[in-house]
Amino acid sequence: MIIKTNAIVLNIRPFSESSHIVNWLTDAHGRITTIIKGAQRPRNIFLGQYDLFYTCELLFYLRLFQGLHIVKECFPLKHRAAFRTYWPGTACASYFSGLAAKTAPLYAPQKHLYALLETALDFFAGQVDEADIVSYGRDGQPVRPSFKRATGQGCPALPGSTSSNTHLQTGLFWFELKLLGSLGYAPRLDACLQCHQPMSTSGAGVSADGRRVPISFSAARGGVICGKCAGQGRETSGRIAPDSFALLKFWQAARNIHAIRNVVCSERQLKDVGAILGSFLQHHLESENTGREAAFSILRQWRGTSFNQERFSP
Ligand SMILES: [Zn+2]
Repeated sequence: MIIKTNAIVLNIRPFSESSHIVNWLTDAHGRITTIIKGAQRPRNIFLGQYDLFYTCELLFYLRLFQGLHIVKECFPLKHRAAFRTYWPGTACASYFSGLAAKTAPLYAPQKHLYALLETALDFFAGQVDEADIVSYGRDGQPVRPSFKRATGQGCPALPGSTSSNTHLQTGLFWFELKLLGSLGYAPRLDACLQCHQPMSTSGAGVSADGRRVPISFSAARGGVICGKCAGQGRETSGRIAPDSFALLKFWQAARNIHAIRNVVCSERQLKDVGAILGSFLQHHLESENTGREAAFSILRQWRGTSFNQERFSP
């Protein structure tokens, strides 16, 4: 049976002397692995038709449980050429597509994950159109308009700009939170895990004698614990600063990537939120942090010393 679908290239490996094995996240068939025969020959019909992080229109012979699917035709819909020169964006794309590949099961259609990865790659390449942005409805499900080619207009990430590289990192946090939410692993930030009392917007808990005490985050338990409960229990959790907690809560609630545009964070806030999400991802998705750390290291180096220290005011 021949299948036609839109698909994003997750990774490419050489196979034999002339072929490629390509892992894709498809719109309608989940993650699939295909063989592209003759792809390494000098003259072949697939030359320039696919590469890392491309979105393609794919035609393949479905061979369920019979080995690799065979690609018949492939046509690029989005090249995302910025990834050839814009290394901070490429590092983010590499890490996030690896995370999507790890969490997407074979043959299980996950349109929300496809839409999220599509938007993430556009964002990291600095090619986000208003019409292509994935948003989240009141039911928590992603809403993405019909497919449209990116034009590069209205992009929040402008290669070479200092603030855009901060946006890459905060954007990465937003995409991690949305990925966790779509998988049903969203960290609980609205109430204490232990006493179930709502958390104040400042993030501080209130002790029995009315004192304001900092709250803690437990990656193992999947959320925040008020100061009063954290002091009483034997939690192996870390304290979280109120402003970093407010950022985390704001991004989790934000339905659209544009929410990060007007937020400028300090290095300490980026470090706090990065550490919390990193430990959470490790606990709940068992994800290796190597790609994540490499991406953040490249972003830090790219920002250099001219980082804007302006604090976020919730
Ligand atoms: Zn509590």
